[in-house]
Amino acid sequence: MRIGVALLSHESNTFASFPTALSDFQIARGAAFADRYRGTFHEVGGFIAGAEAYGYEIMPLFGANATPGGTVRAAAYEALTAELLERIWGAMPLDGLLLGLHGAMAAEGFPQADGETVSRVRALLGPDIPLFVTHDYHGNVPPQLVEDATALIIYKTCPHIDQRERGLQAAELLTRTVRGEVQPVSSIAKPELVYNIAFHNTNMGPMKPVMDAAIELEGQPGILAASVAAGYQYADVPWMGPCIVVVADGDQDLADREAQRLADLMWSLRDELLPTIPSPAEAVATAIASEDKPVSMMEMGDNIGGGSAGDSTFVLEELLRQGASGWVLALYDPEAVEACAAAGIGAQLTLLVGGKVDDEHGPTLTVEGTVRTLHDGKFIETEVRHGGGRYWNQGLTAVLETSGGLLALNSRRTPPMSLNQLRSVGIMPEQHEIFVAKGSVAPRAAYEPVSARIIEVDSGGATSISRPREDYQLARSGLYEWTRQS
Ligand SMILES: [Zn+2]
Repeated sequence: MRIGVALLSHESNTFASFPTALSDFQIARGAAFADRYRGTFHEVGGFIAGAEAYGYEIMPLFGANATPGGTVRAAAYEALTAELLERIWGAMPLDGLLLGLHGAMAAEGFPQADGETVSRVRALLGPDIPLFVTHDYHGNVPPQLVEDATALIIYKTCPHIDQRERGLQAAELLTRTVRGEVQPVSSIAKPELVYNIAFHNTNMGPMKPVMDAAIELEGQPGILAASVAAGYQYADVPWMGPCIVVVADGDQDLADREAQRLADLMWSLRDELLPTIPSPAEAVATAIASEDKPVSMMEMGDNIGGGSAGDSTFVLEELLRQGASGWVLALYDPEAVEACAAAGIGAQLTLLVGGKVDDEHGPTLTVEGTVRTLHDGKFIETEVRHGGGRYWNQGLTAVLETSGGLLALNSRRTPPMSLNQLRSVGIMPEQHEIFVAKGSVAPRAAYEPVSARIIEVDSGGATSISRPREDYQLARSGLYEWTRQS
């Protein structure tokens, strides 16, 4: 059994000021693609492990992904999908294809880019070759994608720590489908909601009961898979919002009925989706006064894993203004890193930091400090962390010690998914009291183990959780968060 494996993944924030170009993608082909993911906690790691577990020959084709950012350039999207299709064609005959897609890729001209990709792949494969697609829990899934794919499997955890498991699940179902043991039929139901990211944590209400119901459903006779996506509110696309996808064995009515049942459950909890999260000033004051330390602050408006700038200063400004001490904050600022590198370790200097990418992420601030370390920025994470990533590169990084805390200035936008981002540049988390992680839910997998308390912060930026309805033009107009406010 010859199974193709491919990945084309990007979470595109259509509100971000910087588009995503072809050069932003990390691309690997053939054996190098398999080497990058073998043994990792990513879903492609699961696709690869499935070869041994379920007895197929793996044809590693092509993998491309980029740090979340703005809408993907048209030329980049066309180049990536052209290569994907070429490589699938070159590997034919295939018995099936495992395709990892994010679910929230938006390209110029194709706001529902993953739907377009699946449509192109299906056209190439023809109607009969099983095509199993995996998605991030933050996908905005169009019904057409569920029709074109044989089955869609979505991560069940946020922070995402089950990606490998979902890859293996897709691999198992695909092999059973190829052997003719099961006949997947799918149904999608989309509750007409904006599901605010403040409630995406699958370990808490109101999402936990919905996810628990999906997990329970998956164990029922006749059901092959049951998924819940929370959606991705930072993309103005037609199918923005959550969904339920149920895959049944040959029984369309069962799939339809159960998808609708879970959608009704999600809908019934809609009035719990009203965020009340403190401002940077309030959150920093709470962190300073907290008796439970260390505290990790989630800077939600500058969620790098959600495609924001990474150089927001709203929380940093408050830390400085309120005289906080013992804090650690990683900030994207290649210019400041260059200044530190030029001055050298031990140099004292005054720097202008942050707020440089655009005018949505706070003012550029003046800080004084001493350069403590310089590092090339590469690190490895071997534990299960959100995103399943193993090899990381935050670019040349300088640690500047200020009177109140440490600024880790990096030259590549780097989502805070691993504490090794700090350890690798000489920062020992055990020695500090306040961490600022530029993210919403995802950083918890790394930061909860070292934190006595998590404080969320409703800050401004490309991933502000309070974006007004007027900013959306393509999204469906009747979504509940908006209709409730009017
Ligand atoms: Zn996600």
